[in-house]
Amino acid sequence: MNNDSKKVVVNDACIGCGICATIASEVFEMNSETNKSEVRKDADFSEENLAKAKAGAEACPVGAIKIE
Ligand code: SF4
Repeated sequence: MNNDSKKVVVNDACIGCGICATIASEVFEMNSETNKSEVRKDADFSEENLAKAKAGAEACPVGAIKIE
């Protein structure tokens, strides 16, 4: 398991639409207090999950997700 959480970052541009957490629930979760998406602390950055995270990043309407 690769736990380099800095691979995936959600920045403040997030408007809380929830799309990324729907597409890649293994990587993103919505914070009910801030109403923004966050990278799960226990996220498993397997190839499969990173591919989903990339799909979520592409679907993000404000480009708030950065993946290295
Ligand atoms: S898709 Fe983008 S705007 Fe929507 S919750 Fe995820 S990071 Fe935020």
